[in-house]
Amino acid sequence: MPDNQLRDALSLFTQDKTAVKTRDGNTLASDGDKKATAYWIKCLEIIKDNVSPHIFNTWFEPIKALKWENKQLTVKVPSQFFCEWIEDQYYSLLQKTISQVLGEDAKLLYQIVVDESDSSTEKRTIRLPAFKFPPQGTSVVVPGTNGSKDRKVFTTNLNPKYSFNNFVRGESNQLAYAAGLAISQNPGKTRYNPLVVYGDTGLGKTHLVQGIGNKILQNHKKSRVLYTTSERFTQDFINAIQTNTQNEFINLYRSIDTLIVDDIQFFCGKEKTTDNFFHTFNALHQDGKQLILTSDRPPRDLKDLDERLISRFQWGLIVDIQPPDLEMRMAILQKKSVDEGIELPVEIVEYIAKYVTNSIRELEGTLISLIAKYTFENKPLNLALAKEVVTGISKKLPKQITIDDIKELVAGYYKLPVEHLESQSRKHEIALARQMAIFLTKQFTQLSLKSIGAGFSNRDHSTILHSCQTIENYLVTDPSVKSAYELLHKTLKGR
Ligand code: ADP
Ligand code: MG
Repeated sequence: MPDNQLRDALSLFTQDKTAVKTRDGNTLASDGDKKATAYWIKCLEIIKDNVSPHIFNTWFEPIKALKWENKQLTVKVPSQFFCEWIEDQYYSLLQKTISQVLGEDAKLLYQIVVDESDSSTEKRTIRLPAFKFPPQGTSVVVPGTNGSKDRKVFTTNLNPKYSFNNFVRGESNQLAYAAGLAISQNPGKTRYNPLVVYGDTGLGKTHLVQGIGNKILQNHKKSRVLYTTSERFTQDFINAIQTNTQNEFINLYRSIDTLIVDDIQFFCGKEKTTDNFFHTFNALHQDGKQLILTSDRPPRDLKDLDERLISRFQWGLIVDIQPPDLEMRMAILQKKSVDEGIELPVEIVEYIAKYVTNSIRELEGTLISLIAKYTFENKPLNLALAKEVVTGISKKLPKQITIDDIKELVAGYYKLPVEHLESQSRKHEIALARQMAIFLTKQFTQLSLKSIGAGFSNRDHSTILHSCQTIENYLVTDPSVKSAYELLHKTLKGR
């Protein structure tokens, strides 16, 4: 946090303590407090019209107003994560609502309330000003551009919250992480130039590439690292044309040592911008500067993106990030809850990891919502609470098919006890049923081969692959297996 922000935060902290004392002493709320509540209710009315009832109940309804003072509305939230989450997801809605209800220059401040019933608990005020966008970014002092000796403050746009330290590694992001680590030690000098990371949304692309940028800055303090998005690059380019400052634009981008461009899929179809980016790319690459790009799909699927650019990507490394497997989802939940200062019982970790499978962003959302309910509504941290949160958040839940569902269905079909599927028996009908269950588990769940193996008496991943292969062969050669498969498949699909 820059010094001035820290100072502001501390001064507000002091003011807050007095305010809290008054409230705790059960005296009447001050005018500012009453106004705060009235204003916040107005804000909630607008928000309610713009989000689904579930989102509203989970994220906005629990927020209570505390104070209205100096055009600043202070609201209380249960954790730093909670507040970062709603800002990440609902920033523009919040911003529009606040300026509509409170005026253009009004601000929203968050106060983290850990536990209201515990009077010894300090109440903390965090992050000022409340809205973090446009990101402040890390500022570093670097030599001026074009070799000039002036030292300038250069904004990297990197968010320090994304680091290697809090990036959980697993099979799904191992290669991307390893390449990132190598780059951070030797930017521009590895085989990974450019590094193109692709994968679905919410899987950690932005976190990883910003983490690389932050690590480069740690290792090479004077380095000029710039993080931007393809949209921001496009906007900067348009501004440069409008204000006739193309030269400054070109000079700035060509003076970068490591250029990170997030979400390049948004370059698609923007011919002029892409052309400019292509030249920037070439100039930097030729000078041995590092390029790091992300995309939500493999580069070959980036329709309408300059072919020349796509072929340049082959010079370096194109690597994907896959959805996390069960073990990694559990590791992420464990790490993030520890960071939040909460120890989650293992059955809760397992439960959430089992049902929230799409993305790490969704996992985070579930955890934050769980912590919010635990802190705000004073609910016990147990499986029932986890179920309540997951039911609301995971759209997939009603349809989520588990390994146990599949075992039960297959065992029922073959008229065998479920335990037989887990046994070591090699009797044909039992082995066939087991292989069918494994094959369907691979199709209907997102479990890794390792996790599927664990669900069938710790069989190793090659046995799992072999089972799948066997069923695939039967589907071609044995009509009775084929019709069994089709029926089971149809039943599972209908769930
Ligand atoms: P993407 O850019 O692929 O859409 P993000 O990088 O924005 O995804 O990640 C979504 C959220 O999940 C972020 O809050 C990020 O910090 C978190 N996240 C993603 N991957 C990891 C990981 N491997 N370890 C810890 N947190 C992660
Ligand atoms: Mg991203």
